[in-house]
Amino acid sequence: MLDKETLVAWDKRYLWHPFTQMQDWMTEDVVIIERGEGCYLIDIAGNRYIDGTASMWTNVHGHNHPELNTALKTQLDKIAHTTLLGYSNIPAIQLAQKLVEITPAGLTKVFYSDNGSTAVEIALKMAYQYWQHNGEPQRKLFIHFDNAYHGDTVGAMSVGGIKSFHTTFDPLLFKGVRVSAPETYRASRDADSAAKTRWLNAVEDALSENAGQVAGIILEPLIQGAGGMLIAPKGFLKELAVLAKRWQVLLIVDEVMTGFGRTGKMWACEHENVTPDILCTAKGLAAGYLPLAATLTTDDIYNTFLGEYKDLKTFFHGHTFTGNPLACAVALENIAIFERENLLSELQPTIEHFRNRLQNFYELPHVGDVRVCGLAAGVELMKNPDTHTPYPFEEKMGIRVCKEALARGAMLRPLVNTIVLMPPLQITISALDSLLDIVWTSIETVRKQ
Ligand SMILES: *Cc1c(COP(=O)(O)O)cnc(C)c1O
Repeated sequence: MLDKETLVAWDKRYLWHPFTQMQDWMTEDVVIIERGEGCYLIDIAGNRYIDGTASMWTNVHGHNHPELNTALKTQLDKIAHTTLLGYSNIPAIQLAQKLVEITPAGLTKVFYSDNGSTAVEIALKMAYQYWQHNGEPQRKLFIHFDNAYHGDTVGAMSVGGIKSFHTTFDPLLFKGVRVSAPETYRASRDADSAAKTRWLNAVEDALSENAGQVAGIILEPLIQGAGGMLIAPKGFLKELAVLAKRWQVLLIVDEVMTGFGRTGKMWACEHENVTPDILCTAKGLAAGYLPLAATLTTDDIYNTFLGEYKDLKTFFHGHTFTGNPLACAVALENIAIFERENLLSELQPTIEHFRNRLQNFYELPHVGDVRVCGLAAGVELMKNPDTHTPYPFEEKMGIRVCKEALARGAMLRPLVNTIVLMPPLQITISALDSLLDIVWTSIETVRKQ
């Protein structure tokens, strides 16, 4: 193996890291991960870190998991890749059947791709073309939300709502209808139901101002992730689904982050008994092992794409690695582990513990808001929580706390001043406690600097 010095030098010379100011990167120490064990990551110097964000919100059962490894190796001994364009493969078929079985009833068809952004692009194109085939070709607009994140490709950015990520590209984005979200700061939490009503009214206004022009509504159900771990008011999703039905527009839920148990149920939709018209899944689908995504939809939508070859009703979309057998084999084992270990019910005490311990973080002077949904949380740091004054972005509070946490053995990545906690679902209570202790101490240490 190359020595650390060479690896770091080559990293800095040849790599361009995502969402990273590379000028800063050049002056920083680089952590290079070599191995994983359960919820721990181990770097080339042998240091162990708790994987506090599940390797960018993907890991489910831990790293280097024996059964997932076996599923992958078994498939590898058969074939690594073969195309779904014009042909089929065994794991892709089995996984499609399984996904239909475990997603909300009514979702009956599975369209694969490689990542969350493509799952969303597919959802948008499907919804758009659905109306072309369904006699209302003027329905071209998508209603989407402030602080939404649906990925970084141009279509996914068009329905996003995070200024710092998307403003530069505004001129490239297609037109939609962006609806602002209610304030979810803790001071207004008592007004959850008022916030819900305000938000729903804003959606209804958007629907009525654009009557007959709206193709669908897209949202992250229950919790907006990259926007800062913002929790929607209880019942919002349910009533939004009712609104979508009443106005006859499609409901697209982006479960890329929330799917696969993150919120305490397999799908966030299940908390409010919602069956969307289209559901996107990616991050946890292949247990955090391989890039794989799926967009699921209903017979109603699928059927409008049927016709004679010459009618050109085909859904002209596909990615080269669609339905990759290795990724599908791992995803099948991922789901099998959920079932074998009765994971979702086993998880409930961990979720309870996580929520309780996080409530104590309000004792820290600069913790302004603690937002928890299942095993996903955001701890927002503020200069003055009483006046709701944020730390200036240039102070890099989130980054500094995460850097401190790294030195103490936890790997995290902030969203501006919000410390994100999203460990693998299969984290033990004792590792979870260590993670929370590290975060607590790191916040305190940085405050006193
Ligand atoms: C991460 C994420 C995406 C984008 O997924 P990629 O695999 O990074 O393209 C889309 N939607 C949500 C809700 C996400 O959290």
